[in-house]
Amino acid sequence: MKKLYLIGNMKMNMTKSSLDPYFTELVKVAEKTDNIVGVCVPYVYLCKAQKMLEGSKVLYGAQNINEHASGAYTGEISASMLHDFGCELVIIGHSERRQMYNETDASVNEKVKVALSSGFTPVLCFGETLDERNANKHFDLVRTQIELATEGLTADDVKNIIFAYEPIWAIGTGMTATSDQAEEIISYAKDLIVAKFGVKKNEIIMLYGGSLKPSNAEDLLSKPSIDGGLIGGACLKMEDFESIIYQNVE
Ligand code: PEP
Repeated sequence: MKKLYLIGNMKMNMTKSSLDPYFTELVKVAEKTDNIVGVCVPYVYLCKAQKMLEGSKVLYGAQNINEHASGAYTGEISASMLHDFGCELVIIGHSERRQMYNETDASVNEKVKVALSSGFTPVLCFGETLDERNANKHFDLVRTQIELATEGLTADDVKNIIFAYEPIWAIGTGMTATSDQAEEIISYAKDLIVAKFGVKKNEIIMLYGGSLKPSNAEDLLSKPSIDGGLIGGACLKMEDFESIIYQNVE
């Protein structure tokens, strides 16, 4: 059986009180599977995540990190602050941050370096828009994003990253990449990393994200290059998240 990585991205959802039953159940679910379970929560709930998830099989973390160590960056959160709450994961370069908060490939690269040097596992997102795919530019776009995001990294660094291919047209839209489309890009992106860093293909972890749900999980997750999923909407409903977490595929 393949050991899958199944990581929830709560985005700006959930409430303090709804997290009590949610985290309690997630700890139980993670105990019952060999798959690796994680969840990235809003900053303000990291304290609760630490109280309820630390020491369990559930990895947890944040949805962003600031590239600077400290200083006059109003509203931002540093690596040492995330450490204070025991974070293990940090999502970097999510398309919503790239599109709505002007994150560039250069800032994504800086954040990845800070996250790695601080001992976090970056969940590094990349993926194309529908226009880019329709114009047949998705391979070039993905290549550029991967090249710039991994600039200056070592082979060991890339082995410590969880990459996530998230076609923007599939995020929160209900439209899912077909398993063949996802496999094609993920295999291609892994080959790029193999060529650049001299690592083995099976040393790279790469997830699919974009309207992953119970009904399409098996099809996507059984593809040979796909190591798991980054799950937005479906992680908010424990029943759906559970059903994805319990997937057993070869
Ligand atoms: C995401 O935003 O990382 C994501 C995969 O969202 P959704 O599953 O809702 O498409």
